[in-house]
Amino acid sequence: MARPTKALIDIGALKSNYAFSLEKAGGKCMPMVKANGYGHGMDNICYALENADAFGVASIEEAIEIRSLGIMVPILLLEGTFSADEILVAEKYDFWLLIENHRQKHDLIKAPIKKPLNLWLGVDTGLHRLGFHPSEISSVYRDLMSSKKMKRTSVLASHFASADQPNNAAITQQLKKFDDAYARVEVPPNHHMERSIANSAAILSLPTSYLEWQRPGYMLYGNSPFPYENLHEGLQPVMHFMSAVTSIRKINSGESVGYSATWTAKRKSIIATVAVGYGDGYPRHAPNNTPVLIGGKRQFLAGRVSMDMITIDITDEPGIEIGDMVTLWGPDLPVNEIARFCNTNGYELLSGITSRVPRIPINQ
Ligand SMILES: *Cc1c(COP(=O)(O)O)cnc(C)c1O
Repeated sequence: MARPTKALIDIGALKSNYAFSLEKAGGKCMPMVKANGYGHGMDNICYALENADAFGVASIEEAIEIRSLGIMVPILLLEGTFSADEILVAEKYDFWLLIENHRQKHDLIKAPIKKPLNLWLGVDTGLHRLGFHPSEISSVYRDLMSSKKMKRTSVLASHFASADQPNNAAITQQLKKFDDAYARVEVPPNHHMERSIANSAAILSLPTSYLEWQRPGYMLYGNSPFPYENLHEGLQPVMHFMSAVTSIRKINSGESVGYSATWTAKRKSIIATVAVGYGDGYPRHAPNNTPVLIGGKRQFLAGRVSMDMITIDITDEPGIEIGDMVTLWGPDLPVNEIARFCNTNGYELLSGITSRVPRIPINQ
């Protein structure tokens, strides 16, 4: 008794992808677990990767969620604090902060905290979203040092705009700006500045980006960060998003299926209804002919995705029965491929899985 919609989370695959990332780029590893572990469930991911050097999250709420699981791995707030009161919370829980703008820097210098914090300094090398201008980094570092709010070891960090296009000239330009900014910082004796710039795409394709810290995200979940690839050798998809056939009907040629009648049968057809929809995170934009797997074979979407159901043309596979399992994406149907049908990327599809879908850890 249960709606058959679920996401199996392959913990063995996750650990194998993590080992692959470590082996590839070396250094210390900060798995990105923001957005509920890219939709896989914060608990599943953080328990499995408890020996990581640190986790990266988007907000203090996500960081507190990890601590409430009893996990004491260091956690970096990748956007720093959104308001000054969060600095006191960060001190209490020992969170690490990215400092990336002057407002955050001033808040920290004024904050009534007793211990210095682990800080990452964000430098904007070309994404133009977060970070200090490269020319400001040395003075920001000096201000934070003299404030005594920064531990002796800090990290200079930046983020690529186009690492998923390995031949893009912008990548080398960003690396050069990053090196220049690093060279300008005067680090006193007994202090250290480490560096971090590599995301998944850089870990897989850009050895010059391998510095003291790597920050893999999407690749840990087993998918290729390169949109032109479905899978990447050495990585195993972690999520198997599935449901089951719950109803089957025959329709005549000329009859249509689903809201707004966007699919019309060109022959006598058999339609299977599957219990998954955009209320679960299956993309409403998925067009007619987006594939699913039933019994290991591809069948195709017919009609618009609704909130709780989709409809599949199974005319050529009349043996399919109510109760048969259906794969929406997973090891045998890459999420990148479904994303291409929907004009988006797999990151959006994975992180869009909604809370009503049970995440079930397997291969622990
Ligand atoms: C999300 C994120 C990453 C990971 O990116 P992937 O492409 O998923 O590897 C790395 N660094 C920062 C700052 C991020 O926000």
